[in-house]
Amino acid sequence: MFRCSCAQAAITSLLLVITSFGQVQSTKPKPRVVVIGVNGMELDVIRPLLLKGEMPNLAKVIKNGAYGKLRTVNAPNCPRVYSTMFTSTRPEEHGVTGFLVGGITANTNMLKEEPIWSILSKHNVTVGMANVPATFPVMPVNGYMISGMLTRGKNCEDGVLCAPKLSEVEGGDAVYPPAMKAELLKNIGDFYIDCERMPSAEQLRGHETEVIDAWLKQVNVIREQQTKLFDYLLRSHPTDFTWMVQSCEDRTGHWLYPIAPYNVGYNPKINAVRPDAFPDQYIGFDKVLGTILQAIDHNTYVFIISDHGIKPLREFEETDPHAHMDHEKTTPVIAKHDFADGDDVPGSFFAMGPGIKRDLRLMGFEASVYDIAPTILHIYGIAQPEPMRGHVLTEIFEGKESSVAQR
Ligand SMILES: [Zn+2]
Repeated sequence: MFRCSCAQAAITSLLLVITSFGQVQSTKPKPRVVVIGVNGMELDVIRPLLLKGEMPNLAKVIKNGAYGKLRTVNAPNCPRVYSTMFTSTRPEEHGVTGFLVGGITANTNMLKEEPIWSILSKHNVTVGMANVPATFPVMPVNGYMISGMLTRGKNCEDGVLCAPKLSEVEGGDAVYPPAMKAELLKNIGDFYIDCERMPSAEQLRGHETEVIDAWLKQVNVIREQQTKLFDYLLRSHPTDFTWMVQSCEDRTGHWLYPIAPYNVGYNPKINAVRPDAFPDQYIGFDKVLGTILQAIDHNTYVFIISDHGIKPLREFEETDPHAHMDHEKTTPVIAKHDFADGDDVPGSFFAMGPGIKRDLRLMGFEASVYDIAPTILHIYGIAQPEPMRGHVLTEIFEGKESSVAQR
């Protein structure tokens, strides 16, 4: 079903080894690609931070690469969009249409189309995935996989937007291969798999400042743990293809987006307390990005992608069936992303690496979440499988696309 590059196979057929995944592999080094996912990255909030010099690492990627909006699907949310990126097929086709599917928390067994980690593994590309949403329970890959958002566990039985620790995971494996779990506990400690659950209206009432500050402190702990995990994996378990994701930015934006008093849902007891909380998440992300960039060399392709943006609620959305439905909980949210029209909350896309144009702005909706998998496969010289609906983002590459595919 998935063809290899036969010309390439003939050239390298004299240099073959058997990998731990049980496959014959060429010893020719493969391109290294690191994808950093930021859940709900909002360019409206990021642009002023770039201008103020508070995101120096992202500024470096922009200067040395291509960037723009990333068209998303309608009513976007994390599992729905990530599974679309994994497979380059529509939510109705791949089956993971939301947090819950038929009343059950979305999980990898629901995927009806082949995800990119499987295709890459079959083509002898080593794969590392860490905290990528909707990857629980983990699946075998030619490398490792550590699950992310929608992992179930103690105090997080439904797995929806809560934070079980690695030792508290229940109902499936969070780490592949299983033996890697003990190694991670030893070297990283018992880290949180996902970001903290947002507080409910009841928890906040009368204790707003105290609850907000305690929550933000916990978010910082989670980001520190995640930074340690990412750095460890990149240095101790380097893989050809690596995909790592952060989720606390989006979670913070939902209820602490710095909105003006005339916005829907504004409550001064909550929204006037820490107006910098949401921008601060991106300053925190930029430090994580700096750690990642230090752990890789300049021949590595770096993609920073967001599944959707996040915007303040709007008055006419109050009658929209999607309004206030984000994350299915009782938090008084003041920003969201599951607008019926996904073009209202585009994601974002940044790319830097060998043969990628510098200082390129993508206009309009040139890039979409459907294009991520075909573009990554293209870098490895793997033909786009027939069910995939996106296209290779040839416009970001210098010269002829074939020179990239066969490098
Ligand atoms: Zn969200």
